[in-house]
Amino acid sequence: MTGLDIPVTDDHIHIDRENGRGIEAAKDFFRAGGTHIFLVTKPSWSHNVHPVTGDEFRHVYELTLETAAAIRETGVVVFPILGVHPAEIGKLTDRMSLADAEAVMKRGLDIAAEYVGEQAAVALKSGRPHYPVEPDVWEASNRILEHALILAHDSDCALQIHAETGPCADVFDMATRIGISPGRVVKHFGTPDTPLMPSLLARTKEIPACAHQGLVFTMESDYMDDNSRPGAVIGPKSVPRYTRKYLEGDLISEEEAWNIHADTPAKVYGVEISLF
Ligand SMILES: [Zn+2]
Repeated sequence: MTGLDIPVTDDHIHIDRENGRGIEAAKDFFRAGGTHIFLVTKPSWSHNVHPVTGDEFRHVYELTLETAAAIRETGVVVFPILGVHPAEIGKLTDRMSLADAEAVMKRGLDIAAEYVGEQAAVALKSGRPHYPVEPDVWEASNRILEHALILAHDSDCALQIHAETGPCADVFDMATRIGISPGRVVKHFGTPDTPLMPSLLARTKEIPACAHQGLVFTMESDYMDDNSRPGAVIGPKSVPRYTRKYLEGDLISEEEAWNIHADTPAKVYGVEISLF
């Protein structure tokens, strides 16, 4: 391993053994100096699963957990995050009513929370469409997101959300009302202006400035591992690569890097992150 002598953590990555490079991508991450990943469930359709009940998401989660086990063989520490992608609502309403789609997604989240309860996963994943939708779809999506916040609160775990670009200040209010710390609500593909916990793309230009200001954040690649969309992806090595660049350029200090890659994710998700 070409280690950086610090843990290097990717807060949001997908590894797809059916449609992507699979374990080879995880090996690339490891060889570049990466040590820990938060492996996020892919949407059901990417696994050719087309649920009509919430319980069928169990199959999607099992596939994610099998992939997590395979990645661990490479030496990377894997923390699975399970949940229902907010864009599922569009696929589900092709084959059922909006009310039924909402119920299926909530039930899918209930199942994900069971895995958290069994400590097979560390956190939940939810959100709301990041593209324009009809008002009734938006309202249903917010109810699903609220359900996920309640589950995360009751499970004492973090929630990662995929939502529209911007601060999502209303989600901060929802979290506060429900009683979950907004610091445990991770805005995937986040921006520094969010009152939630931002997970910033590794290439985000503001990262050094954010680190100096003491902003609490993590880093992610959002690597999709989908061979049919090669142009759409950032490589699996981007978090270790950019971290190396920031450190070698003296753009961030080693202490700041420890905060980003170890202290913050350890606190947010309630996991242990250290060098092996
Ligand atoms: Zn993603």
